[in-house]
Amino acid sequence: MNGELIVLTLTFLGVGSAFAKRNYQSNALVEAWSESPERQDAPDDNLLIDFGSTGPLALYQLKDLAGFSYLVRNGAIYYPAIRRVFITHVHQDHIGGIEEFAILNRRSRLYQDSSVEKPLLLGAPGVLDLLWENCLKGGLGVMANRRVALDDYFRVVRLGGASAGNDGKFTLLDRYELSIFPTDHVRLNEKYDWPSYGLVIHDLQSGESVVYSGDTRFDPESLIPKAEHARLIFHDVQLEPEPDSVHALLGELRTWPEPIRRKMVLYHFSDGWEDPKYRVVKAEFAGFAFPQRRVVLFGSSPHPSGPNRVV
Ligand SMILES: [Zn+2]
Repeated sequence: MNGELIVLTLTFLGVGSAFAKRNYQSNALVEAWSESPERQDAPDDNLLIDFGSTGPLALYQLKDLAGFSYLVRNGAIYYPAIRRVFITHVHQDHIGGIEEFAILNRRSRLYQDSSVEKPLLLGAPGVLDLLWENCLKGGLGVMANRRVALDDYFRVVRLGGASAGNDGKFTLLDRYELSIFPTDHVRLNEKYDWPSYGLVIHDLQSGESVVYSGDTRFDPESLIPKAEHARLIFHDVQLEPEPDSVHALLGELRTWPEPIRRKMVLYHFSDGWEDPKYRVVKAEFAGFAFPQRRVVLFGSSPHPSGPNRVV
């Protein structure tokens, strides 16, 4: 592997909020390349960040775009091409496609290629417990006349917590380290008491980082220290004020220091983002995220790269 050419990219399947109808929900495909997307048919490793109820349709569309043909087999989505799924939290826009992902992966193993490995499912213990017991067990809990568990479908990796033995971190290609952090999304009694997580992605070679907020309320105490050192920040946003919002409001994010805002790409937005009153997003931030465009996060490639560069 040539360490000089390694590239990490991110492609949003969609950039919409939970209830958006003009964009798919905000799920993302991270791909690690030992050379570059221009030189390889498929990445060396990859990771889905969340897979919501619009995820299967979004992926079905993405697979037909140039550079994503490794996701297709016989005209359908080839789920085993996705090695890992990381779940930030269990709202439907983040986990609603997981049942399909699990069943069609299993079918590929049984009926097409027995060498296909179970995909990795990663998440904090609190997220994974809720995911199985409260979300998936009803649909996936029985298979071929027997009761089954989450690890009948996935190789489950519990990130952090007393028994995990991994400090809440995992790597792609031994170069990109992904660390989870709790987000202040939904509260039962107090901040961080409902399981929800974001990611910081570190390039261990260059020392650079990228922040992916997941779903969070406005939380500058947690996010600004991470964002100050990052080259790029993907932050969820709620465009219109709303009482007890569980997302950061655009008006709140506009109060952040300009050097940080210039590195912030906003995602998870509602329909109606083209309204002229949201031109501030382009003027004051790095802009709105685009759906289904591959963006270089880090890595030197034969072409110049930079924040939000599309390949
Ligand atoms: Zn949520």
